[in-house]
Amino acid sequence: MKAIRFHEFGGPEVLKYEDVPEPKLRDDQVLIRVKGCALNHLDLWVRKGLPGVKLPHINGSDVAGEIEQVGSYFTDLKKGQRVLLAPMVFCNHCNECVNGRQNMCRQFTVLGNLVDGGNCELLAVPRVNVIPIPDSLGFNEAASVPLVFLTAWHMLVGRANIHPGQTVLVLGGGSGVGSAAIQIAKMFGATVIATAGDENKLAKAKSLGADHLINHYQQKIADQVRLITAKAGVDIVFEHVGQATFDESVRSLKLSGTLVTCGATTGSEAKFDIRVLFVKQLSFLGSYMGTMGELHEVLKHVFSGKLKPVVDTTFPLSEARAAHDRLENGEQFGKIVLNP
Ligand SMILES: [Zn+2]
Repeated sequence: MKAIRFHEFGGPEVLKYEDVPEPKLRDDQVLIRVKGCALNHLDLWVRKGLPGVKLPHINGSDVAGEIEQVGSYFTDLKKGQRVLLAPMVFCNHCNECVNGRQNMCRQFTVLGNLVDGGNCELLAVPRVNVIPIPDSLGFNEAASVPLVFLTAWHMLVGRANIHPGQTVLVLGGGSGVGSAAIQIAKMFGATVIATAGDENKLAKAKSLGADHLINHYQQKIADQVRLITAKAGVDIVFEHVGQATFDESVRSLKLSGTLVTCGATTGSEAKFDIRVLFVKQLSFLGSYMGTMGELHEVLKHVFSGKLKPVVDTTFPLSEARAAHDRLENGEQFGKIVLNP
């Protein structure tokens, strides 16, 4: 089968469109014919080199496709069924896994991080990862859902305990995770302030439901938040940008506000005044992916049409380099999807 694989870490030029052996299906797995695989910033980090990644490697966390073959242990799925994949790998038998906290499993990893992912034509995965999708959801849309909607749901619902009437500042509202966060926060009855880097992205963030918009290249985020909230600040800051915005994010919080973060796209070192943390009684929360229960919960709202995946562009799998360039340059609004 064809795959995008790399044999050394580096820039987009290391991505090779080449023939690789087809996966051998085990009795306890399901073989998926990949129809769409969305990009995430993780793909860029893995391509540049992360600890534990074995070479050669195939990227890709967000997969939608058709069932090609079902392992003999299972009778509840059939060939041709349209599905998406839970974007994670876990042992499924440790204390955390059986308690439904798969993202705390010692063996937890994201699909396409420490194991080969979906930038290929065929992928064999455990049954637990395979989730049927309704006919109303196209493959590109379905591939745009799992990682970002799961991440945003776990951050806002699982970690920050979002409530109706709260105000949420969503950094980078044009990103995949940001566009998911705007919609989830609105579904919970929150007021949403979204930031983005250009007018086009701000307009799209507004169309997803954002109540207030900040151009983070032209305006000081915390100053604008002060104006919008009549000096109060926001209840929750949804962070994933990191170094470039962290100070502004902290300054945007109200007394006893919560900053929740899942990423550091612009750099991982940030400074903050410890006195502000305790005097303002702030909470800084980390968040990583989410649980299988949360994935099924957020998918209910996607399948019913309340939450809408945002597809930016699609590229043939063979043009993965151009897709990486687009993500790396921050040109996208929503998800970039590769089609094998
Ligand atoms: Zn486990």
